[in-house]
Amino acid sequence: VKKILFPVLIVMITWQASAQDVQKIIGSIFNSALTDRSAYNNLEYLCKHAGGRLAGSQASVRAIEYTREALLRAGADTVWLQEVTVPHWVRGYERCTISSAVNGSKNLSIAALGLSAGTDTLGISAGVLEVQSINELKNLDKSKIEGKIVFFNRPVDNTLVNTFSGYGNAVDQRISGASEASRFGAIAVIVRSVTQFIDDYPHTGVTHYEGGVKKIPAIAVSTMGADLLSNWLKSDPSLMVHMVSTCTTLPDTVSWNVIGELRGTSKKNEFITVGGHLDSWDITEGAHDDAGGCVQSIEVLRLLKSTGTRISRSVRAVMFMNEEMSASGGREYADIAAEKGELHYAAIESDRGVMSPRGFGFDAEGSRLKRLKSLSKYFLPYNIRDFDKGGSGADVGPLKELGTLQIGYIPDIQRYFAYHHSVNDTFEQVNIRELQLGSAAIASLVYLLDHFNY
Ligand SMILES: [Zn+2]
Repeated sequence: VKKILFPVLIVMITWQASAQDVQKIIGSIFNSALTDRSAYNNLEYLCKHAGGRLAGSQASVRAIEYTREALLRAGADTVWLQEVTVPHWVRGYERCTISSAVNGSKNLSIAALGLSAGTDTLGISAGVLEVQSINELKNLDKSKIEGKIVFFNRPVDNTLVNTFSGYGNAVDQRISGASEASRFGAIAVIVRSVTQFIDDYPHTGVTHYEGGVKKIPAIAVSTMGADLLSNWLKSDPSLMVHMVSTCTTLPDTVSWNVIGELRGTSKKNEFITVGGHLDSWDITEGAHDDAGGCVQSIEVLRLLKSTGTRISRSVRAVMFMNEEMSASGGREYADIAAEKGELHYAAIESDRGVMSPRGFGFDAEGSRLKRLKSLSKYFLPYNIRDFDKGGSGADVGPLKELGTLQIGYIPDIQRYFAYHHSVNDTFEQVNIRELQLGSAAIASLVYLLDHFNY
């Protein structure tokens, strides 16, 4: 009996030690993250010294150069730039004034939508038609729309606890409103900022014109401005708006994804990608969206390297360029990976802000999802519990075609849209511990994915 029991006991002891070792490795990753400021310092640089990093801008070039060096400092074995074609849109002078015989005149807090067409320097003046949705617009008589500025004013549904769902349900006005209004003869659109919050910051974002429609100017107005305009329209439906937005779209230009790689110990030719997008809107420091995701990805390399965590696969931190206007950086990364026949095992995107970590969303099903969800036990000491099916992000999305396991990092999402695409998204709005805990969570997941194989 002794002869049989002894090996069994050994196996059991080894197995237990291994589970403890896993927890210990995760502990060392969290300890290192919580006692190091390099990710926070990198964030400060991107926010304060690179600045609004719209693809194609000088600021984006500063961000590319800085993160290339930051990846080397973090311990990447190789760092390179990957060429990406990006739109080149430049904001101009912008102003929007309401003139009402009843209420007087008022300037609104506005920002042109990305890729929108501009006015000339004199601007345009017209009456305003308020609608709540594209469908409402489509059901109106064309004569009511022609020559007007259409004002899309559907608020985000605040009953939705998932703030991204609220955003998703309202953002069609911003993305397609101008294009749809143009079909009916509108001369411009004003779109209520897509946020749950009532503030005086315009929240910009991209707008897209369908082929063949006249490209009419499109601006976002702050939610306070939208409420004011709507109220004034009630007492004076014939009020006039004067809008100037001298933005321009230049020919497409060249930019770069920045990639840093930590070579794997045994499966060097299999890759785990962690990433965020390096571009931001021009009017914002883009701290939460998405400098945070970038510096967390760089920090993942530093954490794995500095803690001596052995990862069999190669880990890449990718700063994707141009997520905001057309996600061409993510497309390019996946296309090159496909061309080279690379094996991309998993990809994690951090692009939901830098609040306290809650968990991860996995694009997986059945028993694979069940196994992934079981990883949550290693994160309980850190209060990170939400492991479930979910989306990843626009940048790693195209890797799905290569069969890559797609994962989205999920922080708390209640505050995110207070900052999103607005001047309010500053370095000061990021808490260092929330940033650090997020980096540690992502690095730990990289380790677990590699260690357990999915
Ligand atoms: Zn983003």
